[in-house]
Amino acid sequence: MSATVYYRLSADASLGYRRNGRSQSSPPAFSSNEIPFPISAGCYSAKLNLDAIALRDVTFDYNSPLNPARLNAHYLHDGAGGHTMTTTPQQLYQLQELDHRIDGIDAERNRVEKRLAAGVNRPDLTSEAEHHSARAVAVNANANSRREEGERIRERLIGLESRLYSGNTSRRDLSAIQREVDSSKYQLEQLDELLLELEEEQRTHEAASVAARDQMESAAVEWQSIIETLSGRLTELESDREAATCQRQDMAVTLPQADLQRYDRLRRNKAGSAVALVDNGRVCLACRMTLTSNVLRQLRDRSKQVPCSTCGRILLQQ
Ligand SMILES: [Zn+2]
Repeated sequence: MSATVYYRLSADASLGYRRNGRSQSSPPAFSSNEIPFPISAGCYSAKLNLDAIALRDVTFDYNSPLNPARLNAHYLHDGAGGHTMTTTPQQLYQLQELDHRIDGIDAERNRVEKRLAAGVNRPDLTSEAEHHSARAVAVNANANSRREEGERIRERLIGLESRLYSGNTSRRDLSAIQREVDSSKYQLEQLDELLLELEEEQRTHEAASVAARDQMESAAVEWQSIIETLSGRLTELESDREAATCQRQDMAVTLPQADLQRYDRLRRNKAGSAVALVDNGRVCLACRMTLTSNVLRQLRDRSKQVPCSTCGRILLQQ
């Protein structure tokens, strides 16, 4: 007779094994092509097809050349869910905690991925920066031509003043030259004031252009750091999920198929929770309804799966 049995293995297993304490050269009804372990690194559940004789006495030798440690495979149940272990509410609750952890990881991963995909509204201040740059250049050109104008006036002023003090200019001419000198000096003062204003205006535009570019630059740097943080979080979540999935797989393989199916069905239909805790010894914490005395009586057997009389979830007495 052959049966599918489930073992929980505490390390990677090789094909060597013992039965009733004696080494066996080759496993009699052992179909090695149906040994799917190791399922993944750190995940040691396996499903083996074995001769049904003396299943509980089978131990495995761990023959890895790297780590020749003895492996114990704990017999859990057969695939038919027949004569062996029953699933306790406590076990299902542990499974549910793992499932909730995986759900939580998936939800967070979703949020992080959405955030990354959405990006940020970074301000595009390129045209503003260019506008201020162009204005600064134009104002500077204007200021330069005013400076040249000032130079010309200064040169003329030197000529006028040398005539004024040459001593051989007529009195009438002197007063005309004096007026011209006064007017040139006035012009120069006006020009100097204008130049100060133009220089100020140029500086303002240059600063505004730099500020616009800085603002874009720092927004880009900030977004880059957000991307790095979010990507790092995604990597963490990925490895958390792998660990939790492994644990889940490890645990699920120990439970009879029928119990697992029932659990999965309940979880689908009951907003993700198949197992509900019982509070104060008489209230289902999922639906908040008081349990009937019949249910409470049944709950005294902690290995039994008792459904809530209102919501149908499997109850776990804390
Ligand atoms: Zn309930």
